[in-house]
Amino acid sequence: MEISSRPQVVDVIVVGSGFAGLSVAIEAASGNAEVIVLEKMKAIGGNSIISDGGIAAWGTKEQQDAGVIDTAEKMFEDMMRSGEGLNDPKIVRLVCDRAAEAYAWSKDVLGVKYQPRVNLFGGHSVPRCYTPEDISGVSTILRMKEKLASLSVPIHLGVSVASLIVDDHRRVVGVRVIDGYSMTSPHEGEYRDILARKGVVIASGGFGADVSFRQRLDPKLTSDILTTNKRSATSELLQACMSIGAKTANLDIIQCIPWTTPDENGYGKGALFGDYIVSSYGVLIDVKSGERFVDELGNRKIIADRYFEKKHGVVGIADDTAVRDAGWDLASVIQKKIVLIFDDLKTLADHYGIPKDALVKTMEVYNEGLRKREDPCFHKSIQPWMNPIQTPPFYAMRMCVKTHYTCGGLVIDPSGRVLSNDDTIIEGLYAAGEVTGCTHGANRLGSCSVTECLVMGRIVGQTLASSMNDSCK
Ligand SMILES: Cc1cc2nc3c(=O)[nH]c(=O)nc-3n(C[C@H](O)[C@H](O)[C@H](O)COP(=O)(O)OP(=O)(O)OC[C@H]3O[C@@H](n4cnc5c(N)ncnc54)[C@H](O)[C@@H]3O)c2cc1C
Repeated sequence: MEISSRPQVVDVIVVGSGFAGLSVAIEAASGNAEVIVLEKMKAIGGNSIISDGGIAAWGTKEQQDAGVIDTAEKMFEDMMRSGEGLNDPKIVRLVCDRAAEAYAWSKDVLGVKYQPRVNLFGGHSVPRCYTPEDISGVSTILRMKEKLASLSVPIHLGVSVASLIVDDHRRVVGVRVIDGYSMTSPHEGEYRDILARKGVVIASGGFGADVSFRQRLDPKLTSDILTTNKRSATSELLQACMSIGAKTANLDIIQCIPWTTPDENGYGKGALFGDYIVSSYGVLIDVKSGERFVDELGNRKIIADRYFEKKHGVVGIADDTAVRDAGWDLASVIQKKIVLIFDDLKTLADHYGIPKDALVKTMEVYNEGLRKREDPCFHKSIQPWMNPIQTPPFYAMRMCVKTHYTCGGLVIDPSGRVLSNDDTIIEGLYAAGEVTGCTHGANRLGSCSVTECLVMGRIVGQTLASSMNDSCK
């Protein structure tokens, strides 16, 4: 392999242009560090830009207006419970303590605009999730890009980091990159080195689209299991870190989201119906039995694990009242026939091959429970906005699980420094975002990744910025 020219030298190299990497870059550059962002794809944004951009935070005006009482402690308890203790309480505490600040930063400093509502997603004990006006990560990424342009930080596209450069003292001092990278011929292109005076930050995201790596970790996640991720969500940089002795945690915990449909690729638009309407207002029905099989407000792991037992498929159902009350615009998914509309439950059952009488009985039992504000079958926590599902037309969508988020990854300390297998710090190496493995443990709660990316990304950027000040003294 021929290495071209003399290496470029900067203060900070950030690898990855998602929420985490761009947050690092903004804070480091704001502290006068010379920063470059490297992105292997031809476009910025990673999974962040295709996400809903939803962020979780407590103590907000939206919660106040909705009469929701929430604290950092409550959020911490929810995340630790959902993570089944496999998450690092120090990191979770940081993420929760600074969640409100990160949400405010996205609004006040970046200028992201959110819908004036607060959503409840499964596993959170109170509504605390906020969705950008465009229901997407696009506006946040674009605002971050603008901010970086104002700070004169270049984002180099089509530049993949192939390996880390480590000096004789085990300090990471730079990266070897492939210019002109393409996923179809990943080893072609021109190799060159870039050196970092202060640090290399790994913000390369998760590996939900890396079938061979994920299947090694969880054999049931074969290529038959679709993904919501971009094809760029692969593990090569995580593996490069592991090859120099970086410690990992929870790698085999790969979250599958139960709110997507096999009738479109990726996360798709149907997830709006699944994640925002069926989960909060509707029911999940096993096609074979016509019965419910889980608390629809349970966390993603609990629900997804049950899907794997339902070989004949699952259909999500809500009624007209739910769709109206939820207030989300379903026009495009209805037009594409991803969400179907039925005048009555029997026609719906016929269409999906669900036993009719069983479905009608299931709905009677469920509705009877709701009238008494209880769920005798699965003990769902009945919320004030939930009503019996009885008003036609009925809306339905075929549902399936798709790999969505990799909970495991690099082990970091509270400043985002990567630890080695012997629990010492690998000097010069930092990480933030989905590539890390300390925050979510057994299961990530909805909207908590964006919070984590912004909180931990900013902390890493600020740590690197303060190291600039140190050297100026
Ligand atoms: C469809 C979808 C919807 C979601 N919705 C939400 C939501 O509403 N709220 C929430 O909290 N979470 C959500 N998530 C999860 C969340 O979006 C991600 O976990 C988060 O955006 C990850 O950010 P990141 O910066 O760590 O990584 P990414 O945004 O994935 O960025 C990583 C970048 O690194 C680049 N990269 C990787 N390897 C290399 C390399 N070797 N060299 C150079 N570049 C490299 C990648 O190409 C990518 O652009 C969603 C996820 C998906 C897929």
